[in-house]
This record gives sequence, C-alpha cells and structure tokens, in this order.
Amino acid sequence: MRDIDPKTLEKWDKEYFWHPFTQMKVYREEENLIFERGEGVYLWDIYGRKYIDAISSLWCNVHGHNHPKLNNAVMKQLCKVAHTTTLGSSNVPAILLAKRLVEISPEGLNKVFYSEDGAEAVEIAIKMAYHYWRNKGIKNKNVFITLSEAYHGDTVGAVSVGGIELFHGTYKDLLFKTIKLPSPYLFCKENYGGLKPECSSELLKMLEDILKERDDIVAIILEAGIQAAAGMLPFPKGFLKGVRELTKKYDVLMIVDEVATGFGRTGTMFYCEQEGVTPDFMCLGKGITGGYLPLAATLTTDEVFNAFLGEFGEAKHFYHGHTYTGNNLACSVALANLEVFEEEKTLEKLQPKIKLLTERLKEFWELKHVGDVRQLGFMAGIELVKDKEKGEPFPYGERTGFKVAYKCREKGVFLRPLGDVMVLMMPLVIKEDEMNYVIDTLKWAIGELEKEVK
Ligand code: PMP
Repeated sequence: MRDIDPKTLEKWDKEYFWHPFTQMKVYREEENLIFERGEGVYLWDIYGRKYIDAISSLWCNVHGHNHPKLNNAVMKQLCKVAHTTTLGSSNVPAILLAKRLVEISPEGLNKVFYSEDGAEAVEIAIKMAYHYWRNKGIKNKNVFITLSEAYHGDTVGAVSVGGIELFHGTYKDLLFKTIKLPSPYLFCKENYGGLKPECSSELLKMLEDILKERDDIVAIILEAGIQAAAGMLPFPKGFLKGVRELTKKYDVLMIVDEVATGFGRTGTMFYCEQEGVTPDFMCLGKGITGGYLPLAATLTTDEVFNAFLGEFGEAKHFYHGHTYTGNNLACSVALANLEVFEEEKTLEKLQPKIKLLTERLKEFWELKHVGDVRQLGFMAGIELVKDKEKGEPFPYGERTGFKVAYKCREKGVFLRPLGDVMVLMMPLVIKEDEMNYVIDTLKWAIGELEKEVK
C-alpha cells in the first residue's frame, strides 16, 4: 500500500466510502477520525494523535490491539493457508476452536456452526430453530417471541426479531411476524421504579400466558442479561433463568444472543453462566477473535443437531453456509484469544476493575444532565437528559451524545454513544489508571454540557 498524505485520505474517505450507521451528509461536513495503528488499549490516527479505545472498537477488542500472541497466531496461519472452504471439508483451526468453544460454553451446547458476524449467528439460530421443528415433523410452528428494544443485527431476519423502532421500523413490511414482550428494563422502570424481583415475575407471567395459549411458537430470542444496543438496558436478575424454565415447560426453543456480552464483558466468559442457563442456541461474535477478524458462531445442542441427521436423499440437512464460514485465519486467532484469557488471567484481573467501574459510575448521578446510569459487569451506559427532574431527553437532531463524545476526543478518549447514552465498553485488558482517565474525561465532557444547555 502506498503512503498517502492525511489530507488526501480524508478527501477520498468522504468521496468513496459509505460508512455504516452514519449520516453521511453530516460526516462529510465534519472532521473524522481515521485510524492508522494500535497498541494495547491505544489507537493512533493518521496525524499521529493518540486515543484510548474506550469502546473496544465497537465492543469487540478484548486483550488490546497489536497483541503479540494474537498477531503471531494470524501470521503463523497465514504462512500455511489463509482460507479453505468448510462446505463439506474442514480445516485444522476450525476443528480445534469448535472443540474449545464446546468446552468453555454452558454444559449441553455441543455443536458449533460458524459465520462471520453477529447478525449471521442470529440469522442461523433463527433458521435452525424453524427448520428443527420441520425436521421433527411439526409444521405449524412459525412465530418467534422477541422483546421490545431488542437488537440482534442488521440482516433482514435479525431485524425481524429486533425491536428498535428507529433502526427497524422502516423495514416493517419486509419482516416476518413476531410477538413482542416489553423490554424488561423499561417495563420494570415504569411499573416498579427499578429492577425489583416482582417485575421479573410479572413479565414471566406474560410470557407464560402466551406459551399456554399458543402452539405455534418456534422460539423466544433475547439478549443475554442486557439490551446493549438499546442503550445498555439490563434485565432483572433471574429473568433469563425464568425464561429458560418456561421454554422447557412449554417445549419452545430458546435463543440467547451473547454477541455483545460473550467473552468476558459481563465478568464471566458468558452471561448465561451467571444464571445457570443452557439455551438451545447461543450466538457468539465480536470478542470471539479478541477483536481481530470477523468470526461468529451459533452453538447448539445435540438434540437440535440430531434432528438434521438423515440419509442424503431425505434432504434434512441445513442448507446454509457462507464463503468464509470457519475461515482459517479467524479461527486461529480465536483460539489464541482463548489461550490469552487463560495465560493472562483476564477474567480474574477484570473483577476489581468491574468494582472500580461500579464505584466510579456513582459519581455520574451528581451531574446535571445525567438521567440514568446502568451497568452489567464491564458494560456501562450513562444516559444524558436535558431536564433531569422531568426526565426530558435532548432533541434527537441535536446529537448531544456525539457532541460529548467529540469533546472526549480532544482529550484522547475515543467513544461512540448510542443516541444520548454514553457507552463505556473498555477492552478487558485496560489498566485501572487508564480507566480512571477515561471516566474523568467523560465526566468532564458531560459537565461541559451545563455551559451550553439553556
Ligand atoms: N447481537 C447483539 C446483542 C449485538 O449487540 C450486535 C451488534 N452490536 C449484534 C447481534 C450484531 O453483530 P454484528 O454487528 O457483528 O452483525
């Protein structure tokens, strides 16, 4: 690649590159970050300015950038072969990784189906669940239960089971029908003023009423313990377990989306562990490669897998696959990622950092424009409001969350908010002094709003 001067890169970026989840009119009017290299929790842009990656490059970096062991895993595999197909053949790292994922995931999840991104892992779980019932000879199950404010990715199937009006509303005529339960956090907040155990029981009762009445439910799909993309909305403790009990009782499948929560973000390798839940499908992505390469996986049970077995002519198999399914490089780095978890005792070292985050988050309540502060493990959301007393949000078009994030950039902290929710999703490897710097900077930037808001 030729070295191109920064100004030309900026020009070409605006001229040719359509960015995801980005209003390009605004983007083209602004100065944007173009990253060039990384090291640990730091990123450098094309002008040599340094930033802490406080959102783990969209929630996927785990052990830091440019990690010698992860680099080495890619390079070692690269010198053997970069990619070979897994449609009817196999490759070494994909086999080893499948075995390892089965070993570390909840008991009973014994089979691994690969893809490249979180949305695909979800798409696969949806199709497999639907197909499972057909292979079992049950043809009337065709409805999924989902949650309001859910986010499972941007492909049409994943959007069908999503519940964020702003992202998903436009496509409603394209989507398959679902039954929606309320978002647990919003329901609990409205009805009980917080995450009280009673609110979980009430929600579970709503679910049971549906399951009692209908025999056409394929599965319920939900995120693991927190609706992250909706603005970090945690579930009441025990909700996931309650859903598991009901789905077993009424013979309905359960899909848990651990794309955002998996690989340590909630303090354990997977959130399901914290509630002793083994779902029928667990969707993984993001942190699976430590944030290096696109890889995702849908883990499932022998019961589901066996329903797809048959003679070739019975055509029961799962007609789904992607060109890069089980890519050799991605699986190699994913294996190394799991080794680093052990070697560096990542989860052990994370526990005091979660405590520090909990302590420091309390300080945000004092700020005039903070309306709510939410946390699950090492994931946190700080919601900005115009008027705290009335709970009045800032107008959407004002992009207040972005303004705060841009202020943080001035002090070398890279953040991307979800609307007006400031997200902290730092790489698990971050040090306590670096965390404190991020938190101090965010507090300062939110405090600066007071000068601007009338
Ligand atoms: N599920 C959840 C819970 C997510 O948070 C996301 C992404 N933020 C996805 C699925 C989609 O993953 P991807 O962007 O890799 O398709």
